[in-house]
Amino acid sequence: MTTPGVRLIVLGKQGSGKGTQCTRLSHYYSVPHISTGDMLRANVEQKTPLGIQAQKIMDAGQLLPDEIVMEMVADRLGERNVSSRGFILDGFPRSIRQAELLEAQLAPVAIDLAIELDVPRELVLDRIASRRTCKDCGKIYSLNNPPVVQWICDQCGGNVAQRSDDTPESVNKRLDVYEESTFPLIDFYQARALLKTIDAVGNEQEVMSRIISAIEERRAAK
Ligand code: AMP
Repeated sequence: MTTPGVRLIVLGKQGSGKGTQCTRLSHYYSVPHISTGDMLRANVEQKTPLGIQAQKIMDAGQLLPDEIVMEMVADRLGERNVSSRGFILDGFPRSIRQAELLEAQLAPVAIDLAIELDVPRELVLDRIASRRTCKDCGKIYSLNNPPVVQWICDQCGGNVAQRSDDTPESVNKRLDVYEESTFPLIDFYQARALLKTIDAVGNEQEVMSRIISAIEERRAAK
């Protein structure tokens, strides 16, 4: 039996395990995983006009303009598997303006839950330093958990390497931007009774179990 779809937003600092947990959740609930970072990196890789515009901003650890990212997300939300099954949004929204645009785009339906993955800043700095990412499918590895064959992705055969924006300067900038622009979303979703904060320190499976319990609790209460 397939579980019914869900509409989730996953919030968390860079290195909080967002990408990894979103991939797992997307398999568990059979819903598309929509990562704006992965979509933008694909544009950079393919040298599209958006990618050319995005690269400098991404490498500097800054955010792209809200309307441009919303347009990209709106296209993806309009695809049939998304409208019928739901979605897991990873890395979007990242500002109050994006959250408002998303709310208007989805109206009259609301999301089921915004999940905040809570991890201390020192821990994410360590995690990002060892993070390695597949350039083609976005699968995340680390120096302690590399692909089976030397830096070739187990999943798609793509090249696995350090992201160009995972330098210490860019990471620190992105963490500051998170605190400034994205952290206010916690209050935004709290005010709508849609927020659940999860302790994201622990192994992948433990954190995944905490997230699923929160989602199921929410569904049971509906
Ligand atoms: P991520 O993979 O989510 O860490 O995103 C990598 C980079 O892509 C960010 O540092 C931003 O430059 C850009 N980006 C991703 N998502 C967004 C968004 N929702 N709004 C603006 N910029 C974004």
